[in-house]
Amino acid sequence: MRISHLQALADIVLGDPEALALAYYETITGAEPVFESDAARGRFAVALKAVGIATDAARFQAAFAKLQQTAGQKDKPHEPVCRDCGSTDLTRDALAAWDADAQQWVLSAIYESTAC
Ligand SMILES: [Zn+2]
Repeated sequence: MRISHLQALADIVLGDPEALALAYYETITGAEPVFESDAARGRFAVALKAVGIATDAARFQAAFAKLQQTAGQKDKPHEPVCRDCGSTDLTRDALAAWDADAQQWVLSAIYESTAC
């Protein structure tokens, strides 16, 4: 048994609906943990969901919905837009400092002022 499986089992025993929702979400999205087969993954997911629902259905489902929502936002690339004309061709003032180790200028600050 892998460490990640043990962590998920610990979540089950502790019965924390948010931890169970995260374990369930990661299991069905295939991020972690790694399983021998899809069937094994499916059985594990069913067990996590069942315990999550039994522990606190409302909190489990709310936490799971939030994870799905966050993932949906990550999939869409964000691009800043000029609030006056809608252009995405924007520039910002920034401060660069010389990095002796990297032997190049490295951004150390990006200011709020944006121009298009
Ligand atoms: Zn503009």
